[in-house]
Amino acid sequence: MFDTVLIANRGEIALRILRACRGLELKVVAVYSEADRDAPHVRLADQALCIGPAAPARSYLNQAAILAAAAVSGAQAIHPGYGFLSENAGFVQRVADAGLVFIGPSAECIRTMGDKVAAKRAMRAAGVPCVPGPDGSLPDDAAAVQAIAREIGYPVIVKAAGGGGGRGMRVVRDEAALAEALALTREEARRAFGNPEVYIEKFLLHPRHVEIQVLADAHGQALWLGSRDCSLQRRHQKVLEEAPAPGIAPAALAAVGERCAEACRRIGYCGVGTFEFLYEDGAFFFIEMNTRLQVEHPVTEMTTGIDIVQQQLRVARGEPLALTQAQVDCRGHAFECRINAEHPETFAPSPGRISEWRLPGGFGVRVDSHAAAGYQVPPYYDSMIGKLVVHGATRADALARLRLALDEMHVGGIATNLALHRRLVRDGDFAAGGVDIHHLERWLAAV
Ligand code: ADP
Repeated sequence: MFDTVLIANRGEIALRILRACRGLELKVVAVYSEADRDAPHVRLADQALCIGPAAPARSYLNQAAILAAAAVSGAQAIHPGYGFLSENAGFVQRVADAGLVFIGPSAECIRTMGDKVAAKRAMRAAGVPCVPGPDGSLPDDAAAVQAIAREIGYPVIVKAAGGGGGRGMRVVRDEAALAEALALTREEARRAFGNPEVYIEKFLLHPRHVEIQVLADAHGQALWLGSRDCSLQRRHQKVLEEAPAPGIAPAALAAVGERCAEACRRIGYCGVGTFEFLYEDGAFFFIEMNTRLQVEHPVTEMTTGIDIVQQQLRVARGEPLALTQAQVDCRGHAFECRINAEHPETFAPSPGRISEWRLPGGFGVRVDSHAAAGYQVPPYYDSMIGKLVVHGATRADALARLRLALDEMHVGGIATNLALHRRLVRDGDFAAGGVDIHHLERWLAAV
């Protein structure tokens, strides 16, 4: 089917994908911006092509340059990683039109799931529990919208159908604030997302962020690979993740996981993906699906023993899943800390040259990173320089291992958020498990 994969990404995930390709004896083409000339995946690839200057719009988001690199190098498949072009249906279509394999779902699936109104409708139809609120976008008639909001009950949240990255949402506490929030969100949606559709749902006050990893092949089979809890967030950015979501009965997780797998079968989904839920008072509420590999996939790999990126490559090659749901066995507990080049208190980015790089090690410790001593962290991209992942037989075991690993790790020359992680993993509420999505910001405000 294909034997050469072009990796249209950078950083730790490009290296992660390269390793998965190597494990399946696939050849790798790296593409890089002028700022990433010295990246390890560029050095390790069979071929490497510069696709433009540092600015993402002119390199990693430059569709024509990436397609040209595939043509020149003879790559037959493109792995988009996460971010950049990974959820761009237009790009997926161009890849297919060029006769190449996009390692991910079809353009049609991405389009459906990228429209939050369409996604919610598709999920409800598949029996996936959603946040209370209508399936459709809001009418123009102010009185009709008021009636809908009253029926849901305040507070509500107004969201742009095409929104993403934590933008295009407004919480409305009472009817007096509704009209203005609606007008502002509509205007933002028109300007930022090119889709003026907005919808409304119940605003949950203290939810956790719980997600389900799925894996589906091109032959109608779909599995769910357990749960993750990503409630520790700052400004909607995940900071620390774990698998499984603590304190939720396995039977409740299985029930929602099975609905997610069923939804994949119904929409003809192929590849890996994540169903994101808010979880409050024992109930799950679907918010969105990410139709790509996620940053936090390693915690699921550690608990299931499944190499998610290799599976992603296999299903893209047309192989049927060689695994049944009964063979997906989640064992122990895993945590992931996102290590960012940023000030631990102000969160200001801290690019520059890494002078010292000491990694933790030992049983159950994994570091996914492209950084090293002497590596220059460029200022143009996301500040994440690596992920520290640990696994243990129990949550307490894994947490003890995480504390030691964080203490062992040392990065010199730039500021990192290691100090924040070290404090966070000693917080009593976090240690108890099951904190809500506001916990981290509350905790930061208090310490
Ligand atoms: P995006 O695509 O921008 O990430 P999401 O729909 O995933 O948007 O929502 C982002 C975040 O906003 C959620 O993780 C949650 O913190 C908050 N949020 C979204 N919908 C609700 C809701 N109905 N109630 C409470 N919080 C919400």
